[in-house]
Amino acid sequence: MIFHLVENATLLLSLCWLQLLNTRFWGNNDSAAKLTSGLLFGFTCVIGIMMAREPESGLIFDARSVVLSMAALFGGPLVAGVAGLLAGGYRLWLGGAGMWPGVAEIVLSVLLGLAYRYVHRGGKVGTGPWSLLIFGLLTRTLLEGTFFLFPLASVDFKTSVPMLLVMPLATVGLGWMLGDIIRRVRDERDLNIAATAFETRQGLLVTDPNSRILRVNQAFSAITGYSPDEVIGKQASLLSSGRHNAVFYQAMWRQLSATGRWQGEVWNRRKSGELYPEWLSISAVHDPRGQVSHYVAAMDDITERKAAEARIQHLAFFDALTGLPNRSLLLDRVQHAMNTGTRSNTYTALLFLDVDGFKSINDLHGHHIGDQLLRLVAERLGDAVRSSDTVARLGADAFVVMIEDLDREHQHAATQAELRAKELWSALGKPYRIDELTVHSSVSMGVTLFSDDASTAGERIQQAEMAMYQAKAAGRRVIRFFDSAMQEAVSTRLLLEEDIRRGLQAEEFIPYLQPQLNEAGRVIGAEVLARWQHPQRGLLAPGVFIEVAEQAGLVEQIDLQMLRRACYRLSWWRQWPATASLGLAVNLSARLLYQADFVDTLLRLLARSGADPHQLKLELTETMLLDDMPAAIARMRELKGHGIRFSIDDFGTGYSSLAYLQKLPLDQLKIDQSFVRELPEDGNSLAIINAICALAGSLQLEVIAEGVETEAQHRQLRDMGCRYFQGYLFGRPMPVGEFERLLVATESDNAVVETISLERDAEAC
Ligand code: C2E
Ligand code: CA
Ligand code: CA
Repeated sequence: MIFHLVENATLLLSLCWLQLLNTRFWGNNDSAAKLTSGLLFGFTCVIGIMMAREPESGLIFDARSVVLSMAALFGGPLVAGVAGLLAGGYRLWLGGAGMWPGVAEIVLSVLLGLAYRYVHRGGKVGTGPWSLLIFGLLTRTLLEGTFFLFPLASVDFKTSVPMLLVMPLATVGLGWMLGDIIRRVRDERDLNIAATAFETRQGLLVTDPNSRILRVNQAFSAITGYSPDEVIGKQASLLSSGRHNAVFYQAMWRQLSATGRWQGEVWNRRKSGELYPEWLSISAVHDPRGQVSHYVAAMDDITERKAAEARIQHLAFFDALTGLPNRSLLLDRVQHAMNTGTRSNTYTALLFLDVDGFKSINDLHGHHIGDQLLRLVAERLGDAVRSSDTVARLGADAFVVMIEDLDREHQHAATQAELRAKELWSALGKPYRIDELTVHSSVSMGVTLFSDDASTAGERIQQAEMAMYQAKAAGRRVIRFFDSAMQEAVSTRLLLEEDIRRGLQAEEFIPYLQPQLNEAGRVIGAEVLARWQHPQRGLLAPGVFIEVAEQAGLVEQIDLQMLRRACYRLSWWRQWPATASLGLAVNLSARLLYQADFVDTLLRLLARSGADPHQLKLELTETMLLDDMPAAIARMRELKGHGIRFSIDDFGTGYSSLAYLQKLPLDQLKIDQSFVRELPEDGNSLAIINAICALAGSLQLEVIAEGVETEAQHRQLRDMGCRYFQGYLFGRPMPVGEFERLLVATESDNAVVETISLERDAEAC
């Protein structure tokens, strides 16, 4: 009996050992592992049956019930099914009197094992020794009970009792070992996963509670340059850069011990000695007693990210051309200066510098030279200021120097600022050598002083800018300080802006027409000049509002309203012979021409009004065309294609060059009134007008003179070849109705009928 038990125990142990090998061998291949497991369990049963002692009754007693029920419990239906089929098949083949009880034992064991598995999965019973023992007892009792159903003489308590004693214990033994195998294989898999996870792109470092390095991964070696052998057993502080002080590390440890975690940016040192920034996350690992057993540190080298951040920061806050701080950064610094100034009561000065005539330098020598000049100006400013000053570039040719920590007394601070401004002047006034050129340039300067935060940083910069404009207007080498009068001007301007907005809504801007005549003295059309019919202030000339409207971005709307009225007027005039052939010239601001949808808007307006595009002329100034020549040419060509005509206003005051005049689809040059005013005495003006007329002749353009006030001027202009005229001599700008009356009065008598109808409908448009 003992020998038999040892035999069976050895068999079960071999089964376990083979099962372990089998699971390890197949790894994650579940079906194959189950199939071979089933075969293993099945063969074990077969061998068990072979080895069993067969009493005369024909019954074979062995451990098959234990093997099969445990195969079902731990392996599931497939394993138990294969094993059961194998064992059952063999038992059937053996035959004999105990065949059916034997097969019944096989089937029942499988079913009971599966039932146990089902209940266990539902979480209702465990697979601990006691559960297994009870299961073993129940199974055996049930089996023994079943045997009594079969009419076999030798089935009695003599055989049942030992089985009832041994089999449950065998169940516990086998169940415990199989459970252990499953746990062990699972642990091995987990370890495998952990080891793979350990080799990530993140550098990982494991230390003991005393920061002694126990393990590192490959990424750690790649980041730090240390191989595992070089660091294992050493203190983690071997990596420290020396950049962080004791307080930093104390705070880190404090948080680690309080929360078990710490993360942040740390500067460490590579093996090569190079310092580098890394993002470090440290987690404490606790043992079951709650004591720290390990620290795991994950590190990401953020050198590149930091560099990218720095690049973005630089782009956002520094001007690309000169490398100087831009407006955003200046605003920040001004804000900072206002805060500290408020505390210390000292004055800060903002010097706004604008390069005189920069636009002409650009136009004359090209953007390349312009850019170089700006770089040199920036360089000289950098050299001339002190380290505590800020130099910024705000726009094309506008720079700001901020000088902090001036005197506490206003007058003294102003004198200090003025002295510093003069230093800058002399630094910037010297000629600039650019390529082969020597460029002379000066700057206009406006200053604002402050020692509090009563205004915003933006307002302070605006004050300095306003003072600069005043300085520019006053002539060169003048410094202007922002004062209360200027402040008042700012407020007035803001109020005016609001008023213009309201006026636009209320359609208070109306066209006045100033006649344009040909050589024969016949009115051929008029220039549309905007007037503001102000409800309180009466009729206002453009001098009051155009500039402010331009600065506030409202002039486009005024222009569009004038264009609309001009188009409808032209269309209306087509009905009468006296007006049918008249043209209207409308002033256009630069902003409108460059607006993306301007061409479409104008063409739509012409189509809707029914005006003939050939009778519409647009007056542009030279300087506005220079802003973006290619765009201006493209827009003008497109409009020209539809018949719209173009005139260059204030001609002779800009920097027109033949090269660009030829590229523009022009029809007319308009001699600026400043030249006409000086006639007939001024030789200079005479020469200029002569040159303009000659130029227009060679380019086959019309010439019109504006501001003609006297007959002498008229005669002289005619003599020089000018064919068209406009000025007070022929008529001041007048309301549309008055213009039409004047026109009809100069026509023949039968036009009187027309006059009446024209007048009646004049207000309609
Ligand atoms: P501009 O286009 O050069 O218009 C000619 C200006 O000279 C007009 O002034 C006109 O009244 C004035 N003028 C005409 N003949 C004589 C003369 O014989 N002697 C003198 N001393 N002056 C004469 P106004 O109407 O005050 O317009 C001033 C400026 O306002 C215009 O100069 C133009 O640049 C601008 N402007 C007028 N209306 C509009 C408009 O609808 N849109 C835009 N963007 N600007 C406009
Ligand atoms: Ca004009
Ligand atoms: Ca003009």
